[in-house]
Amino acid sequence: MSGKILIVEDEEKLAGLLRDYLLQAGFTTEWLSDGLAVVPRVREELPDLILLDLMLPGRDGLDICREIRTFSSVPIIMVTARVEEIDRLLGLELGADDYICKPFSPREVVARVRTVLRRSGGGQTLQAAGLVMDESRYKATLQGRELDLTAVEFKLLQFLALSPGRIFSRSQLMDRIYPDQRIVDDRTIDSHVKKLRKKIAAVSPGEELIYSVYGVGYKYEAS
Ligand code: CA
Repeated sequence: MSGKILIVEDEEKLAGLLRDYLLQAGFTTEWLSDGLAVVPRVREELPDLILLDLMLPGRDGLDICREIRTFSSVPIIMVTARVEEIDRLLGLELGADDYICKPFSPREVVARVRTVLRRSGGGQTLQAAGLVMDESRYKATLQGRELDLTAVEFKLLQFLALSPGRIFSRSQLMDRIYPDQRIVDDRTIDSHVKKLRKKIAAVSPGEELIYSVYGVGYKYEAS
């Protein structure tokens, strides 16, 4: 099993230990210690799973989990220092996929990560104002009707939709869609966007979703 695990943990030693075990198990990892950095990072680069510590500097794990759930179903495992805290967390219905209590054995964490990933089917589902994007199957629906997208169109729409209102330049979009640095013309993005818009309009007439910003690039905005 592989995948990118985002470790959100302010205890550096603990984060390092988790990283070592996850790497050994075949995962790639990224580490964040500041609560405020988490949501922007998740919007930018979707991890396959998040290990989220409850008590963090900047912003607490509860708040972070709630905000992520407004735009993504990425699997989240909450990590807390107190076992009695878990009952309270369960009662809050945060939408986390699992809870782990400190101190834990890193082996146990790896096992839980595997279980949660297996259950979630690998990819994540993005939901935003009638748009549902299932990454594990590269399937997208708008208002319940299927958008028949190519893989490139899917990635483009997903990336834009993860940051509603944010404007991306053509080169930012190209970096995202062609990470292997293939040389592509600026107009490649324009032509993908054109096709995407056509498909969106076919399923939901009058719906724009992707707007061009003159001289800058593109943005996603739900109507
Ligand atoms: Ca902590």
